[in-house]
Amino acid sequence: MDLHAGYPYSLVKYGLPFNYPRLDHDVKTDVLIAGGGISGALAAYYLTAAGIPAIVADSRTIGLGSTCASTSLIQYEIDVSLSRLTNRIGEKNAVAAYRLCYEAIGVLEKICKKIGAPFFDRRDSLFLASYKKDQEWIRKEYALRKLLGFDVSYWDDAMVKDKMGFDAPGAIYSRMAAQTDTYMLTHLLHQYNIKKGVEVYDRTTVADISHQRNGVIVHTQEGHRIKAKYLIMATGYEASQYIREPLLKLRSTYATASESLQMDGCCWHNNCLIWETKDPYLYMRPTKDNRILVGGRDEYYYNPSRRDKLISKKGKMLQEDFNKKFPHIRFISEFQWTGTFISTDDGLPLIGNYPAMPRTYFALGFGGNGITFAQIAAEIITAIILGKKNAVPQMFAFGRG
Ligand SMILES: Cc1cc2nc3c(=O)[nH]c(=O)nc-3n(C[C@H](O)[C@H](O)[C@H](O)COP(=O)(O)OP(=O)(O)OC[C@H]3O[C@@H](n4cnc5c(N)ncnc54)[C@H](O)[C@@H]3O)c2cc1C
Repeated sequence: MDLHAGYPYSLVKYGLPFNYPRLDHDVKTDVLIAGGGISGALAAYYLTAAGIPAIVADSRTIGLGSTCASTSLIQYEIDVSLSRLTNRIGEKNAVAAYRLCYEAIGVLEKICKKIGAPFFDRRDSLFLASYKKDQEWIRKEYALRKLLGFDVSYWDDAMVKDKMGFDAPGAIYSRMAAQTDTYMLTHLLHQYNIKKGVEVYDRTTVADISHQRNGVIVHTQEGHRIKAKYLIMATGYEASQYIREPLLKLRSTYATASESLQMDGCCWHNNCLIWETKDPYLYMRPTKDNRILVGGRDEYYYNPSRRDKLISKKGKMLQEDFNKKFPHIRFISEFQWTGTFISTDDGLPLIGNYPAMPRTYFALGFGGNGITFAQIAAEIITAIILGKKNAVPQMFAFGRG
């Protein structure tokens, strides 16, 4: 699958920080993790912490899946609002999903501290009503989150103007969000895991999987055999070749990074993350090195050649979108890129066993919250492997309907 094109900012900035070998022999382990992006790296971290030997095998160079294209906003708010998710899957499950994402932010912060990764910054997050008609929805969403104990405030139009300087009919301000560099975090997780005994191979493709009663036997495309008790599929959007869930939707999304700029005296409250109600939504955040990342302008198809032709045009559109909100900030787009994106109807990840593949667990953080979902999936799958019954919350399971 063609996952991205153009110049993803993290990849331009950090290039190839570490090298990993190809697998050139047969191996045996407890858990084989197919995929070495953020999901595979976090799964290996959790397994290692639990004392379970693991091997990571990635068909690409490490990090060059969707992970290097990420704009790295960490939010508990998923693409489907809590009120809409409640209508869809019931209050208990919707609230449980939101709470897990909320907690994931603190957990990711602890992991970054533990591995010594300087790529985690607490931020607040602003969810804007894009249109007047969304004002009522935003108000209800705010009231529900407040009632359930989420740390949120409601901003009316005057407050948005005062704090941010632009017009919006209303907004929810959340004091729980963060930003990272997903690509570098992935590498630093692998480096930490390697020191703890994990073997990480790239340019090694899991090609043929044979499911046994007591494990799996995998043949790599390069001609080697990996025997494992369990297989974790952290293969990102390419997992769609294994599963046929009707709820998967393919999109192409776009992002741009500005030139480094001066934001002194600018009214961007607390440099918060910004996103909004319309679909596709626009989102933006300042980086630590004084750039601004803006993303959105999605197209509802997967067609890499059509997708890639639009990179420059979409970069200009995102620059204009940004300038409408902050006309006084001199945003000049320097890098533009595009990525394929899969979302689910309910905005939730797919985690756990797919019945057709015994002793195999999927960690698929589809949707806009791939990073928090990756943490949640890693924790759940490790719990399953440790023998915990009913570890997969029903709202994340395959076949949830
Ligand atoms: C433009 C863009 C912006 C985004 N912004 C955000 C954001 O702000 N916040 C957020 O939370 N999420 C964001 N996301 C989503 C996030 O980037 C992804 O959810 C996340 O990176 C997925 O990580 P992963 O490890 O699951 O998948 P990947 O990074 O794609 O890793 C999967 C790996 O599996 C490997 N693989 C596949 N098949 C095999 C096989 N058979 N054998 C061996 N290896 C295999 C691939 O080579 C790949 O490297 C964004 C995505 C895009 C495209």
